[in-house]
Amino acid sequence: MKAGRFCLRRDLVDQGEVPAAKAAFRNYFVTRGLERISQRVGYFAPKVGTHAKKVDVRELGSRWASCSPTGNLAFHWKCMMAPPRIIDYIVVHELCHMHYLDHSDAFWNEVDKVMPDFSERKEWLRKNGAAMDL
Ligand SMILES: [Zn+2]
Repeated sequence: MKAGRFCLRRDLVDQGEVPAAKAAFRNYFVTRGLERISQRVGYFAPKVGTHAKKVDVRELGSRWASCSPTGNLAFHWKCMMAPPRIIDYIVVHELCHMHYLDHSDAFWNEVDKVMPDFSERKEWLRKNGAAMDL
């Protein structure tokens, strides 16, 4: 860690230990993500008028986050590579799914109530999401 960014150690790269470095990188984001995202869920849940039973940060394949009807939220550890305001958008998006499990107008209306500038954040994620792959 240097100035908030990860730098792969040159000797590890030369020894072909990049997979180990990647695992360390991922574990760091899972741990930090649980702290940060749980805190943001706690902040936004009352605003959305809901509460999450469980928050998990893990590998989620191609999805940023998922929400079960029973109130379990899961976030991809890669969310932690996004700016805080984008993480907030992902959190609000998932919390609103606890009211509406689809992307209907009613759902977006719910997101808009809590985060009126959500479309700009949504656009950021659409444009930059792919580049966040490790
Ligand atoms: Zn959604």
